Amino acid sequence: MFETVECPYCEHDNDMSDALSEGVPSDNTFDHECEKCGKEFEVYVEFEPSYSASEIVYVDCERCGSSTRDPRKKGSIFPWPEAVEENVICKECFYKALSEEYSKTNVKA
Ligand SMILES: [Zn+2]
Ligand SMILES: [Zn+2]
Repeated sequence: MFETVECPYCEHDNDMSDALSEGVPSDNTFDHECEKCGKEFEVYVEFEPSYSASEIVYVDCERCGSSTRDPRKKGSIFPWPEAVEENVICKECFYKALSEEYSKTNVKA
């Protein structure tokens, strides 16, 4: 990670160690005013690429039987639709059950 960045106008090395104390902006660029000449320039934050890997696990939906990489598991999701007795279901089944649950609640209310 860089500590200083050279001003494009006067070539003064600006200390960047405080510039990111409030976090990196979402687009990784921010404006900085040169300590020496006072002109604003745009700084682009470059990060070392980092990778993390995890196994791809396919799980069969207990409701419709389709295999999914992104299952919804009982116990890790709240609220879990009461109507779902299965423990692992696919996203589609989950949202379907969830919207059924909501429409039920609305009828009661
Ligand atoms: Zn400057
Ligand atoms: Zn399903």
